[in-house]
Amino acid sequence: MTPEQRIFTERSDAVSRTAMIGALVNFVLSLIKVLAGIYGHSQALVADGLHSLSDLLSDILVLVAGRQAAQAPDSDHPYGHARYETVATLVLGFLLIAVAIGIGWDAVKRLFAPAELLQPGALALSATLVSIGVKEWLYWWTLGYARRVRSDLLRANAWHHRSDAISSIVVLIGILGTLAGLPYLDAIAAVIVAMMIARIAWELGWNATNELVDTGLESARLDEVKETIRSVGGVRSIHMLRTRRSGG
Ligand SMILES: [Zn+2]
Ligand SMILES: [Zn+2]
Repeated sequence: MTPEQRIFTERSDAVSRTAMIGALVNFVLSLIKVLAGIYGHSQALVADGLHSLSDLLSDILVLVAGRQAAQAPDSDHPYGHARYETVATLVLGFLLIAVAIGIGWDAVKRLFAPAELLQPGALALSATLVSIGVKEWLYWWTLGYARRVRSDLLRANAWHHRSDAISSIVVLIGILGTLAGLPYLDAIAAVIVAMMIARIAWELGWNATNELVDTGLESARLDEVKETIRSVGGVRSIHMLRTRRSGG
């Protein structure tokens, strides 16, 4: 094995290992948080649980659509199958927007009808603490891999775990506030978590749409491409360089 091949294998091993563990943790956390949110009377915790569920869905999307997208071109799809992943991402974006609107609507309704505000208890509080601890651990663990194999993708995944921990901290503030006698704080925390989900949905949908309408690469990447072309022996100049993305 050449050193380049070894780095490539190490990298893809690190990506699949952290993706698998991340998906497993999201599965367990979403189950714990939705159940503890319902039985522990915290709307914000249910919202945070749905956030973890949406993370799980996008993990699965990356694994499944990624496999489909890796198929070689055939007579039906001469450009390959990479954009199946893009379309799936767009659908996920719409799904998440719907989830965010549902959570936000429910929470705002309760804010205007204070009798319907929930009173979270110890169950919701402990599930939230577990979620913060586990997600912060996952951040450091994934960041360790990112540093070892120098991967931007893994670094981005690590930061997503930390933003999940922050989402749970918002829930914690909501629950503690409600316990301290500010009954509307749990519903406000639910609205904030809904907005965080909406932001993820917007980013996914916007990037997928840009790819589907053949948006060109940003100028920094374009310069890199030009640099690479110029470095080829015998090349004198470049005309008509057109770029677009296709899946990963
Ligand atoms: Zn095909
Ligand atoms: Zn997340």
